[in-house]
Amino acid sequence: MDSGKPSIAVILGTRPNFIKAAPFFKQTQKHTELDFSIIHTQQHYDRVLSNTFFDEMEIPTPDIFLEIPPSSSSQQIGLTLHSLSSLFSERSFDGLVVFGDVDSTLLGTVTAVASSVSVAHIESGLRSHDKRMPEEMNRIIVDHLSDLLFTTEPSANENLVTEGISQSKIKYVGNILAEGIELFWDKISTSIITKTLNLMGDDYCVITIHRYENTENPLVLKAILTLINDLSKKIQLVFPLHPGTRKRIQEFGLGDLVKDTKITDPLGYSDFVQLMVKSRGVITDSGGIQEETSYLGIPCCTLRDNTERPITVDLGSNKLFSIYTAKTDEIMDHLSCNNFKSRHIPLWDHKVSERIINTLSNAYMRGQ
Ligand code: UDP
Repeated sequence: MDSGKPSIAVILGTRPNFIKAAPFFKQTQKHTELDFSIIHTQQHYDRVLSNTFFDEMEIPTPDIFLEIPPSSSSQQIGLTLHSLSSLFSERSFDGLVVFGDVDSTLLGTVTAVASSVSVAHIESGLRSHDKRMPEEMNRIIVDHLSDLLFTTEPSANENLVTEGISQSKIKYVGNILAEGIELFWDKISTSIITKTLNLMGDDYCVITIHRYENTENPLVLKAILTLINDLSKKIQLVFPLHPGTRKRIQEFGLGDLVKDTKITDPLGYSDFVQLMVKSRGVITDSGGIQEETSYLGIPCCTLRDNTERPITVDLGSNKLFSIYTAKTDEIMDHLSCNNFKSRHIPLWDHKVSERIINTLSNAYMRGQ
């Protein structure tokens, strides 16, 4: 039924979307002038990862689940696009909110624009300047099709302006992952995950690897796991294994390289953040974890040649290591480092979603 209020769809598809959506939906409760609907695209592996986050982070139940049968990645893209365009022709949304750089972010944006629905992009403007990354292409296209671009760090504003996007569309609001940590701090600090996993003190390091370019090619995955195997001789490693990465390790017969590493299933949010907080540091290829470790002041070794989040490197908490040339001693040195610059990044605080939703409210209440 039409409530007469501006109707805004929010697309969620993957783990990092859910984590960013939690503070967002907490804030929407204060904005009854807007009608929000959640569309869950159930992107690929993240079906398995989804439910825990909705329960733990109290994200409202999605209004619409896209029923996409498991199939190849390109078939999923086609089916999702088809399903979204049927939805957008049945329902008249006034706006769409998308997060980050995953496929459902791109597909939602393209569909909305084709249906003359305006798009607001949260975590806009990040650039690795590496067009081989599918996420980089998603970011560029989504930013150029969006009407409101919410940014997390100064480099993002510079990138967007350099690409010719009007300054009037860009709003620097800070990082919603920092707000998530503040919002869930009670749950994070009371998690007993280190006890459950039988870990002592801070003498362990957390690993996460899930990026397509690191897991789909057996030679690349082998190089990463060889590094991990070498490191496991120097420090206890805990590896919450993404289902996609697990599948590839099995398929490529690389299980021996993680035999001395403590493997767990992917963890819930509070457990995972507590695991990072208590650790010596993190080794990862994740985007969001580079930011969370910077906010928390934890050393992060990023196994990539570039990052779209340069502020984390400027701060000193994050250091890039190329998988073919990384030396275990250099990684160990960075894990022992704690002389970072000030941890404060402007507007990475508990008010990020308030800034975003106030901007949305102003835009939609005045009819844009
Ligand atoms: N995370 C989690 N459980 C895990 C591993 C990661 O809750 O076992 C969280 C982590 O705290 C961060 C997010 O997942 O908020 C990062 O997601 P991911 O690395 O999948 O995506 P990216 O940030 O690279 O897009």
